[in-house]
Amino acid sequence: MKTQVVIIGGGPSGLLLSQLLDRRGIESVVLERKTKEYVLGRIRAGVLERGLVGLMEEAGCADRLHAEGIVHDGTLVSHGDDMFRIDFTELTGTPVIVYGQTELTRDLYDARKEAGGSIEFEVDDVTILGADGDAPHVTYTVGGEARRIDCDFIAGCDGFHGVSRQAIPLSVRTEYEKVYPFGWLGILSETPPVHDELIYANSERGFALCSMRNSKLSRYYIQCSLSDSVNDWTDEAFWQELKRRIPGPMADKLVTGPSIEKSIAPLRSFVTEPMRWGRLFLCGDAAHIVPPTGAKGLNTAASDVHYLYEGLCEFYKAGSSTGIDAYSQRALNRIWKAERFSWWFSSLMHRYPEQSSFDLKMQISELDFLRSNKAAQTAMAQNYVGLPY
Ligand SMILES: Cc1cc2nc3c(=O)[nH]c(=O)nc-3n(C[C@H](O)[C@H](O)[C@H](O)COP(=O)(O)OP(=O)(O)OC[C@H]3O[C@@H](n4cnc5c(N)ncnc54)[C@H](O)[C@@H]3O)c2cc1C
Repeated sequence: MKTQVVIIGGGPSGLLLSQLLDRRGIESVVLERKTKEYVLGRIRAGVLERGLVGLMEEAGCADRLHAEGIVHDGTLVSHGDDMFRIDFTELTGTPVIVYGQTELTRDLYDARKEAGGSIEFEVDDVTILGADGDAPHVTYTVGGEARRIDCDFIAGCDGFHGVSRQAIPLSVRTEYEKVYPFGWLGILSETPPVHDELIYANSERGFALCSMRNSKLSRYYIQCSLSDSVNDWTDEAFWQELKRRIPGPMADKLVTGPSIEKSIAPLRSFVTEPMRWGRLFLCGDAAHIVPPTGAKGLNTAASDVHYLYEGLCEFYKAGSSTGIDAYSQRALNRIWKAERFSWWFSSLMHRYPEQSSFDLKMQISELDFLRSNKAAQTAMAQNYVGLPY
């Protein structure tokens, strides 16, 4: 088989890139290790920046997002029972949209199907070959049968545990990592959200987040120990702990119910540099991870897709390699700012095992500054709604 771009990974990055390229007449094949149902069953991100919404529009996939996504003009931040609001729209002119990653991924799969896009599911043994030369190709097996695709470029959109990053020699790659000493226990429940905007809560018992997917589906998280397992937490124990961490009036009106999904995610900041090696480009979680505080994961994946899509269009439509040559640097410039924001917001909101009384005072005074200072709120809002591409 031969195509222009082989895309490894059928998550949001790979699908969005494939759909955007198709709209400009650039051919791709997507290789996905899992089944479509498995990918659509993963409950992950839910807050979309304007940049990602714009890309979904350009991809012709934004109708349902605009019909069903919930516009959020701001967010609440609490410390104990104190609570204040950051008004994104007033401070930046831009809201965010709450729309689940599962829904966005479904829209992209539907669009690829309608366009007759080529996606191979349940592929194994994906191997990247010749990426540093002029004849890149990818080999893999599907249903026990060995296959090969020759191509011009390879987009590594296969997430943190994929093969693409590992294909770049260690002598070329530099990795930067911070592992946080706690995780997030999250549940999804068919209950109305406690509030119509998200609540980020700093409490003496640890962080909590009240989020949502729609008016009938809530997503809640609490900071937990890395040694906890999902089985340690009954639904009842989760709700009790959440109530202790959010302001009293919110706890009083929290509607609880059985969880329909429960999982623990460790928190990590990670960046690999460079994001290009020859004809291989890394995109999304394959190249970087952020802690979910501030909802940057899916959104940074989208900005990579934007830069790569632009570069590939320039290459195929204008015969210029300027865009693909600049890809790694342009993507990394924005990613490091999102890494900084996610790290800062995580540091502000969580309890750390080694935190001294001085550290706690610093956290409290920073929260106080954020509550009372418009410039600080504006900086927070600009980062939250997404820095420009
Ligand atoms: C548990 C969890 C919770 C999260 N919660 C949030 C959140 O609340 N807010 C937020 O903003 N972000 C969140 N994120 C981050 C966000 O979901 C990711 O940033 C986003 O999914 C990145 O998209 P991606 O397409 O780059 O990678 P992925 O979504 O990881 O997609 C990669 C795809 O590649 C496939 N793949 C892997 N290896 C191979 C291979 N060898 N061959 C072929 N295919 C392969 C995988 O099956 C997967 O479908 C969360 C992530 C996780 C893991």
